[in-house]
Amino acid sequence: MKYLTIRARVTLWYTFFMAALAAVTMGVLIMFSENYFSSDQKADLIEAVQDAAEDLAEGESPEYFEDNVYLMWYDENQAFVEGAVPSGFSESTALSDTGIQTMTGNGQTFYVYDLQITTYNSGNFWIRGVVSGVESSSLHRFLIRTALILLPILVILSSVIGYLITKRAFAPVRKIQETAKQITESGALSMRIGLPDQKDEIAQLGNTIDLMLEKLEQSFEKEKQFTSDASHELRTPAAVILTESEYFLAHGETMEEARESMEVVNRQANKISSLINQLLFFSRADRGTLQLRPEPVDVGRLVKELADDFQIIASEKSIEVETVLQFDEPGTEEQGIYRVDRTLFTRAVQNILQNAVSYGKENGHIWIHGYLETEYFVIEIKDDGIGIEEEYLDKIWDRFYQVDSARNNTGSGSMGLGLSMVKWIMEQHDGYADVKSKPEKGTTFILHFSKNL
Ligand code: ADP
Repeated sequence: MKYLTIRARVTLWYTFFMAALAAVTMGVLIMFSENYFSSDQKADLIEAVQDAAEDLAEGESPEYFEDNVYLMWYDENQAFVEGAVPSGFSESTALSDTGIQTMTGNGQTFYVYDLQITTYNSGNFWIRGVVSGVESSSLHRFLIRTALILLPILVILSSVIGYLITKRAFAPVRKIQETAKQITESGALSMRIGLPDQKDEIAQLGNTIDLMLEKLEQSFEKEKQFTSDASHELRTPAAVILTESEYFLAHGETMEEARESMEVVNRQANKISSLINQLLFFSRADRGTLQLRPEPVDVGRLVKELADDFQIIASEKSIEVETVLQFDEPGTEEQGIYRVDRTLFTRAVQNILQNAVSYGKENGHIWIHGYLETEYFVIEIKDDGIGIEEEYLDKIWDRFYQVDSARNNTGSGSMGLGLSMVKWIMEQHDGYADVKSKPEKGTTFILHFSKNL
């Protein structure tokens, strides 16, 4: 059985059950018909014999044949006197008053009913009624013959129907199998099974696989894009280092020139190092090896420290950082201590602050506002810088996405990875990040961290 396909197995079982069902139905029908006819005939037999006895008692001459019943008379010595004897039945068969007897002779079945009668003038005698079972047994034989012809026809018919039904039912499975095979052979993840959107399990399985393929294709595309973007980002600083060092080796003479070249090389090497660190971060995050290490942190204090550190960087653009933090749970002694991964939390806030400085305007402002919501503690970082067009707001969270790389501060580390890092960190903290922005007016990033990590 295990060497057969599911389709063959289902067909076989189906045929087997249909044949068994037909056989049982016919068997029951045959038995029932036999019983029905014989009990009908037996009732006729008793009635005919009793009628004959009554006729006799009333002095009427009895019939020899009534309702398919042959009637015979025997004297008190059980010797045949007169009557109608059905062919194949011997009138000398011994009499018995034990009810209806079934006898066979000449390949026929007879029902025999004997009644002993005592009358005043004629003394003792017997009335025998015989009904030939020919009628019932011929019907019986007919039914058996029909069953024997019908049964194989039914078996063949049900196996053909079973085969056709399973063929139809298993067509989608075939389609799934063929698509999977083609994808394996060609590696084309863009292929889809394309089953109609129905409620049945196989169609749903096919559609789920299609969805999975969609996701796989997307993540493969992202992976390819990521590798290509990363190589692209690494190529520029590497090329600058090569050109600068080659130029110096060919033409550099003074210490002054050596210092200038080393500054360029150092800047570019920093950029490469920062990119490699960020790539490692994503590689670990994707592989699941970047484990969150939550610990109780006084987030108000930490954010204040980060804000103070950034005031120094922001001062280079004469940007003023204002901080309002309200992390105290009302009515409790709680001081806004929440479980976070200190390093990742710091990195998320720093990335947003760095952007607020990079894309903020000279003499501008940065407002940091911390407050509590029912489930989250929230950190809002608002700037009055260049802002982001509405159409780009969704994309800024993608890896390597930069609204306009030309407008970006191209200092070390600005490669479009910061916000996707923030997004990942927020998800790991059971929270989320929002952004609101108006071009030329400014941008607000809102970080929701779960209070119950
Ligand atoms: P980048 O390294 O380029 O800053 P990010 O992932 O941090 O990468 O940000 C993606 C893009 O979103 C940036 O290139 C920039 O165009 C835009 N962006 C991020 N923060 C701000 C902000 N505060 N104001 C204006 N634009 C921003």
